[in-house]
Amino acid sequence: MLLIRSLRSRLQRSSSSYAFSTAAAASAAAVQSERTIREGPRNDWSRDEVKGIYDSPVLDLLFHGAQVHRHVHKFREVQQCTLLSIKTGGCSEDCSYCPQSSRYDTGLKAQRLMSKDDVLQAAKKAKDAGSTRFCMGAAWRDTVGRKTNFNQILDYVKEIREMGMEVCCTLGMLEKQQATELKKAGLTAYNHNLDTSREYYPNIITTRSYDERLETLQFVREAGISICSGGIIGLGEAEEDRVGLLHTLATLPAHPESVPINALVPVKGTPLQDQKPVEIWEMIRMIATARIVMPQAMVRLSAGRVRFSMPEQALCFLAGANSIFTGEKLLTTANNDFDADRLMFKVLGLTPKAPSFSEQPPEMAAESQELAVASSSG
Ligand code: SF4
Repeated sequence: MLLIRSLRSRLQRSSSSYAFSTAAAASAAAVQSERTIREGPRNDWSRDEVKGIYDSPVLDLLFHGAQVHRHVHKFREVQQCTLLSIKTGGCSEDCSYCPQSSRYDTGLKAQRLMSKDDVLQAAKKAKDAGSTRFCMGAAWRDTVGRKTNFNQILDYVKEIREMGMEVCCTLGMLEKQQATELKKAGLTAYNHNLDTSREYYPNIITTRSYDERLETLQFVREAGISICSGGIIGLGEAEEDRVGLLHTLATLPAHPESVPINALVPVKGTPLQDQKPVEIWEMIRMIATARIVMPQAMVRLSAGRVRFSMPEQALCFLAGANSIFTGEKLLTTANNDFDADRLMFKVLGLTPKAPSFSEQPPEMAAESQELAVASSSG
């Protein structure tokens, strides 16, 4: 009898210490992803909360990113965007990673704005290959004083939208009026990356400020255009800077609808030519953290994808990425080709995301997205 009592008490002790160790082991990723699923998107994240998620054990972070992803999105759906450089090189800015800056000798030849025929032909090719969003990039600081070129781009936007594609532009800084004109032409989204944390930013760019970037995002938002804004890792930044970037994005008044996560592709001739390549685990940390803190955003696996194998990309999709850039080039650097991506979709059982053309004002769209999260069964 004494023996049974002693055994029972030992069992109780060990089961309560097991329960304690399980509870103590709950990572910040586990706690915060459950909260995201329960409460929906929030933009009052503290930097420590984001850091806690980012620093969680990587497999746990991946698992919880996947949980949020499955709860909020159709997890097999991946958006395909094609990015075309419509005006290459000769840029006055000094972004240390960029071969298009006129300050670095990278051998890149500056070109004028592409003709309408060439742009529309590229958009059609992208559409035929399954792309639903067409993004046009121009290597400019801003579009001020470029009235003729800007009007041409407005025309491209209208035409591509009429082809049934979502249209995105990345043309540098915008003024309020230009954002309004792009919206009128039918622009779906505007890309303007923050690149890195506010603290590390001056090490990468000195010709325009972080606040100027945020102001462009504000004009885009006010015009009712979706925001596409993310960053680049592998610039020599600390992990704290990656947390800082995600924290800034996740505490904007409304989260960006798209968050591209780029891995630096070092280009010879740029100040960052000797940076060591980003590892897949670093991408997974960024993607899963972005997924948990900005659950409704399209998290885009962007530049640098060409270096990752299909299984590595599969981990990124599992962690919460649901958008990619397709096409042989990403502005000026190499990208995965259409055939390789078609094969990947087949092998991984991914399905292309259809274009979406919500004409609701941003506040209403945000409300209906919240309802969608609340009613989603996963
Ligand atoms: S990233 Fe854009 S703004 Fe910066 S140098 Fe390149 S083209 Fe110019």
